[in-house]
Amino acid sequence: MSESFLRGGIFLSGLVLFSSLEYFIPYRERLFKRSQRWPGNLLLIFISNVLLTGLAPLSLLSFSRLAEEGSVGLLNNVEMHYPLEFIFALVALDFAVYLQHVLSHRVPLLWRFHRVHHSDADLDATSALRFHPVEIIFSIIYKGGGVVLLGASFEAVFVFEVILNFTAMFNHSNIYIPQRVESQLRNFIVTPQMHIIHHSTLSKFSNTNYGFNLSIWDKFFRSYQGDVGGEFTIGQLDCQDVQSHKLKTLLLLPFKKN
Ligand SMILES: [Zn+2]
Repeated sequence: MSESFLRGGIFLSGLVLFSSLEYFIPYRERLFKRSQRWPGNLLLIFISNVLLTGLAPLSLLSFSRLAEEGSVGLLNNVEMHYPLEFIFALVALDFAVYLQHVLSHRVPLLWRFHRVHHSDADLDATSALRFHPVEIIFSIIYKGGGVVLLGASFEAVFVFEVILNFTAMFNHSNIYIPQRVESQLRNFIVTPQMHIIHHSTLSKFSNTNYGFNLSIWDKFFRSYQGDVGGEFTIGQLDCQDVQSHKLKTLLLLPFKKN
């Protein structure tokens, strides 16, 4: 229980931090008022959390405990110095999340649900929370499988989840970072200026920059897209009106006929 409080506290601090920075040093001009998008985005994460609490065994930490108790998974069966094992688990889980994101775009059924995230027509820290509850459940099962196969420790999974929450809010946030700093940062981590390209309405750009934490995967697997030059529209072309950001529309979007 204390882990959930700690995680919740770090998550809320991140949300307050990035939303404040967006207010003082914005990157792009907003198309919508916060009040038109925030309720939908925040209610989606609220519903997902209620569902996951109801389905208590479905937490990544419980998958890690399961693997440890059954001595299942790579890291529970090889001798490795703990600091090295810890870092290996973080990097491997980050790769698993990169792969999951690629699949979310390539597999039509997964894309139906992932499209809810891409339907945001402005990007800010709350966009990192805009995931359909069904995608959140898929995601926990997928990542849980990864945790078991890997035999990742409880501590590594906890730190990974906190980092992922934090970096997802960072790279969706609408904050200005001086180009000099940003170009150095993107050598290692995914920056907002890199991730926003992934939210373009054009598929040639949205099928690039899949990373959430480390930028190395996109570079290694040739899905990296540097600056595209000039302005571009973000979101989905059929979701550019106020109605598209209401909770009911978001929940029903995956079931809409194309
Ligand atoms: Zn995506």
